[in-house]
Amino acid sequence: MAMKPAAFAYERPGTLGEALEALARHGSDARPLAGGQSLVPMLSLRLARPALLVDLGRLAGLDELVVRNGAVEIGAMVRQRRLERDPLVAQHVPVLAAATRYVGHPSIRNRGTLGGSLAHADPSAEYPAVALAVDAEMVVRSARGERTIPARDFFLGPFTTALAEGELLVAIRFPALPAGAGWGVEEIARRHGDFALAGAVAVLERGPDGTCSRASVALFGVATRPLRATAVEQALVGRALDSATLREAAALAADAIDEPLSDVHGSATYRRQITPVVVRRAIEAAAARAGF
Ligand SMILES: Cc1cc2nc3c(=O)[nH]c(=O)nc-3n(C[C@H](O)[C@H](O)[C@H](O)COP(=O)(O)OP(=O)(O)OC[C@H]3O[C@@H](n4cnc5c(N)ncnc54)[C@H](O)[C@@H]3O)c2cc1C
Repeated sequence: MAMKPAAFAYERPGTLGEALEALARHGSDARPLAGGQSLVPMLSLRLARPALLVDLGRLAGLDELVVRNGAVEIGAMVRQRRLERDPLVAQHVPVLAAATRYVGHPSIRNRGTLGGSLAHADPSAEYPAVALAVDAEMVVRSARGERTIPARDFFLGPFTTALAEGELLVAIRFPALPAGAGWGVEEIARRHGDFALAGAVAVLERGPDGTCSRASVALFGVATRPLRATAVEQALVGRALDSATLREAAALAADAIDEPLSDVHGSATYRRQITPVVVRRAIEAAAARAGF
């Protein structure tokens, strides 16, 4: 197994325009470099062999975090470590801060970025599922202009997104959760910091009549891409969430898994068995926070 990268050229542009121009010029030969926590190992193993790395580390404006139009807009280069601690994230999208604690270890989160994780689209990563659960939007730029991609259209398969050649993810908009919304993030991994064998992100809201007015449940680590567990969501909305209802809803979770992951870490059968367990834990935590 090769342990050194193939030769590549390296550019570190100072502006977004220069970065987009370099990506447009080199097409599929170029690869953006963010925190390097996934890309550098892939280079070393020669799973990626780009001719040019375009380092995003010096670009102004990609590390901003602002509240705008009811959403927290987070620059793609914001480091994962910041999401753990930022007061705006804690206030408006606490589920994102909670998910961050499961991403690798502090040394990885110090370098790793939000945009890098979403663009990498590891089916076992936490952030894609959070983005799906809260209906986040991806703001994407290329030399041709800007477009916005809803999270539900962004993750296409293992390590595959809707980003086209020459496109950069520049920011992600997370709608602020309403006050009183409850959330939960749960996963089963061999050791803390390992990628999940099964994970779930849940957001629940309690309506004025005391029943569940909104349920979002996203799965990760179980299929080729993050998924919404719509059968679970439908079994929660309009119901008063007692423990029997939560248990019955969670039992429907495995139905969402259309293309199960099966690898050395866990078989498809095992993942199907533990999925309802993580979903039950996530919706129980969310229900408790939502005041059920
Ligand atoms: C030991 C270890 C354990 C880990 N555990 C976990 C874990 O439990 N959960 C988890 O989610 N992750 C885990 N990771 C991965 C980590 O979260 C990475 O930080 C993340 O996947 C990639 O972010 P990055 O900023 O390092 O991106 P990079 O490695 O620099 O890039 C990753 C990919 O995204 C592309 N890219 C980066 N930024 C952009 C952009 N703005 N626009 C378009 N394309 C872009 C790159 O070209 C590359 O293909 C782990 C990593 C290690 C080394």
